Amino acid sequence: MGGMDVELASAFTASLPPWLVDELPALAEAPPLAAAEERVRLVNRLADWNWRAGNGGPFAAIVVDAASGALVSVGVNVVLSTNLSSVHAEVMALSLAQRRLGHWDLGAHGADLELVVNWRPCVMCYGATMWSGVRALTVAGEGAELEELTGFDEGPMPEDWSGEFERRGIRVSVGVGHDDAVEVFRAYGASDAVVYNARGASEG
Ligand SMILES: [Zn+2]
Repeated sequence: MGGMDVELASAFTASLPPWLVDELPALAEAPPLAAAEERVRLVNRLADWNWRAGNGGPFAAIVVDAASGALVSVGVNVVLSTNLSSVHAEVMALSLAQRRLGHWDLGAHGADLELVVNWRPCVMCYGATMWSGVRALTVAGEGAELEELTGFDEGPMPEDWSGEFERRGIRVSVGVGHDDAVEVFRAYGASDAVVYNARGASEG
């Protein structure tokens, strides 16, 4: 286990990258993202920026108030910049929303919050989304394009993944901004950026 510290670790933190921290005030002051298209347009833009900045994979997520589109939190994949395999965009956005609201349950007090992602969550984020308390999930797409274009693996997702959400009171919407999402993956796949899944890491 090369590079292992002598002492056991007791805490970890995961921060958004500086370029996104710099943009947070403008995002917070911008008008609410009233339409689904606007919400997905933002995650596609941030996903594209994220991989080009070298923080991690081409993935971004936001949490918004489902009705108004008011922005609650923003997340991008920061696996590479943190050396933490679990800090996918969804985990960052959900955790930062929980931190901001001061509650582990994003559905507390009747809140109707929506997670918006530029592709269907991986198997880890599928669980993270389910336990977060959000009441809606919007994704630009699902299916094989992600793996074909980028090499990222979503893991063993249930066949009826959206039905499992719906049965738990989480509305699912798929397909808004699909072509733009695929374009981000295509650009990423054509680059020499690192695919950081555990099997690929030792090859790099
Ligand atoms: Zn994930």
